[in-house]
Order: sequence, then structure tokens, then C-alpha cells
Amino acid sequence: MKIAVLPGDGIGTEIVAEAVKVLQALGLKFELEHADVGGTAYDRHGHPLPEATLKLAKEADAILFGAVGDWKYDKLERQFRPEQAILGLRKALGLFANFRPAICYEQLTHASSLKPELVAGLDILIIRELTGDIYFGQPRGRRIAPDGHFPGAEEAFDTMRYTRPEIERIARVAFEAARQRDKRVTSVDKANVLETFQLWKDVVTEVHKDYTDVQLDHMYVDNAAMQLVKEPKRFDVIVTGNMFGDILSDEASMLTGSIGMLPSASLNDKKQGLYEPSHGSAPDIAGKGVANPLATILSAAMMLRFSLNQAEAADRIEAAVKKVLAQGLRTPDIWSEGTTRVGTSDMGAAVVKALG
Ligand code: NAD
Repeated sequence: MKIAVLPGDGIGTEIVAEAVKVLQALGLKFELEHADVGGTAYDRHGHPLPEATLKLAKEADAILFGAVGDWKYDKLERQFRPEQAILGLRKALGLFANFRPAICYEQLTHASSLKPELVAGLDILIIRELTGDIYFGQPRGRRIAPDGHFPGAEEAFDTMRYTRPEIERIARVAFEAARQRDKRVTSVDKANVLETFQLWKDVVTEVHKDYTDVQLDHMYVDNAAMQLVKEPKRFDVIVTGNMFGDILSDEASMLTGSIGMLPSASLNDKKQGLYEPSHGSAPDIAGKGVANPLATILSAAMMLRFSLNQAEAADRIEAAVKKVLAQGLRTPDIWSEGTTRVGTSDMGAAVVKALG
């Protein structure tokens, strides 16, 4: 099992180091190879995604990614900005399926902006299609409006589009994931208004015929946004397009209270995946040893489950994270009265110890 380790910028190096410690403590055989990415790579090699890094990422079974970005790169031409590395990796590896779990740990229910009884025990998985939809659809651009309400005025336009195979493959990913959970999928669309999402709904319904053991329901995106804050625990797996998934996954992440707790995965059709925390490089706290490494450690658990076929090891990590939270250990972002404040490396060490 070869893992490309790409720590990146800011807190990326600190949090990935802890996830690596946890992986190494599992007693499994991994080949871990590090490479530069993001601003660090730009500084050292003149590009945020150097050839050598891309080659390593392509060869690996999975990629453990920290975070990229720093305000000091904001003035660079777009192609050299650190964030281009993530887009480049998604494109080069065809990472079309984005997994964003939103889990509210019992001990952190107070950190959510919703009432504790609404989020206690929350465990939902949002699966977002990542390489299609209005974000990539052509044509797009600016022009003088040929018609519409204001012909002759300057206008901008984007194109929402999905092909049948794109919908089929993400629907299969969602049904397969649901089989490992509570066997319920909610497909979120806007089929009442958009042709693209009428096709989406039709195709998801057809694919469902191969997964009759999984319960499927359809929900319009506006209702889904409402239900996520009204009754989030009604969901198990949500599958949706790129734009709706972008918005709903951020909404769901806030239910859990802290961004420092949220892992994510982006997979291709060979189950090769890029695993990273949902947060960024947090330049405001970089180098201070206070970043929460749990999102990255939980991303490593997802990597074991989805790309490396090591579900048992993934369970061990997740159980260890629950255990350290139960012990009252907290990095500053999740600290509250009566708990013990620890730094990044102490939190990582505690997870290693809790693995048993
Ligand atoms: P951010 O997620 O880096 O930080 C937002 C806030 O959350 C900050 O106050 C930060 O201190 C805090 N935070 C984030 N992760 C934390 C952790 N693990 N522990 C404790 N606190 C944590 O978002 P931002 O400040 O908007 O962006 C900073 C940089 O990160 C920018 O350059 C942005 O482009 C980049 N970014 C990268 C990614 C990525 O690599 N996938 C994602 C988002 C943003």
C-alpha cells in the first residue's frame, strides 16, 4: 500500500505529521512517500503541483493531503496559486466523488449552533459529484445579451449539464456507501425546475434497481437545506450534484460545531482517493502547535476504509478519537470549561495511545 503524503502549507505540516504517527502505530505495512505541494512547492520548485508530486500522486493507492494556501500567494497569477494544486490533482486523477461526513460527537454537541438534542449522535454522509455540473459546463463567459429582459446589456452565463454516465457512477458510489451504513440514500435535485436535474432524478431511480436493499428518496434542494437544520438526523447518505453539494456540505459541517473535526475524501473510479481535512491551511494559527489534527486523523481513517481496504484499522482510529474526546482532551478550537486543553502533537500522541 503506497500512500503519497502531501502536507502542503500552514498547519498542513503539523496536522499531517500527527496522522502519519497514527498510521504508523497501526502495525500495517505502508510505504509512505512525502512530496511538496501548494505554496511550499511553488517556493521550492516554481509550481504548486510539480511534476514529481503529480507522478507520485498518480502512482499511489491513496493521497494524504494537509492543506494549501497562504495570503502571501494571493498576488500570484492564478495558475501559480497554491489552491491550483488541488484542482490539478482532482482533474489529473479524475476524482469525481467527494465524501463529506458530518458527525457530531457526543462530547461536542454543545459546539453546534443547533440544539444538542437535534445534533447528538448525528452521523450523515454527503456525497457530492465533483467534476461536472455548472462549475465545469461549457459554454460559459461574458457577452452582450442577445435577448432576455435586457437585450444589448452586458451579461454573464454558465451552463449546468450532466451526462447519464456521470450521474450513474456517482449514484452507484452513493448506494455502495449506504450499504456500509444505514442503507438509506436521499438524492437531492431541483427536478421541478431544471432539465439537468430531471435527468439526474431519472438516472438515480434507474440505478436504484440494482440496489433494492437500499431505501431511496428524492428531495428538492431547497427542502434539503431546510431539513438539514430542522431534522438533520433524518438523513443517512445524501447524494447530489457539484453546486448543491458544495453548499449543503458546508451547511452540514456547521451542524457539528468545529471545522477542525471534519474529514473528507475525493475518489475516482479505481477507488484511488485524496484524503484531506475539510478546513484550509489556517495561516492565523500555523506554527503555534495548537491546530486540531483530528480532521486529518479521521481523513486517514477514511483512506483506510475506502482506498486501502482496511476497514478494521479505520474503525480502530475512529474509536480512538472517540476515546480521547471522552477523556476530555481538547485542542483550543473545541475546548470548553471543564476539559483539558492540549496542543496538536499531544492530541496526536493521545490518539496513538488510545489505539491500544
Ligand atoms: P481555514 O479553514 O484555513 O481557517 C478558517 C478558521 O478556522 C481559522 O480561524 C483557522 O484558525 C480555523 N481552523 C482551520 N482549521 C483548523 C484546525 N485544524 N484547528 C483549529 N482551527 C482551525 O480557512 P481560511 O482562513 O479561509 O483560509 C486560509 C487559507 O487556506 C487560504 O489560503 C485558503 O485559500 C486556503 N484553503 C485551503 C483549503 C484546502 O487546502 N483544501 C481549503 C480551504 C481554504
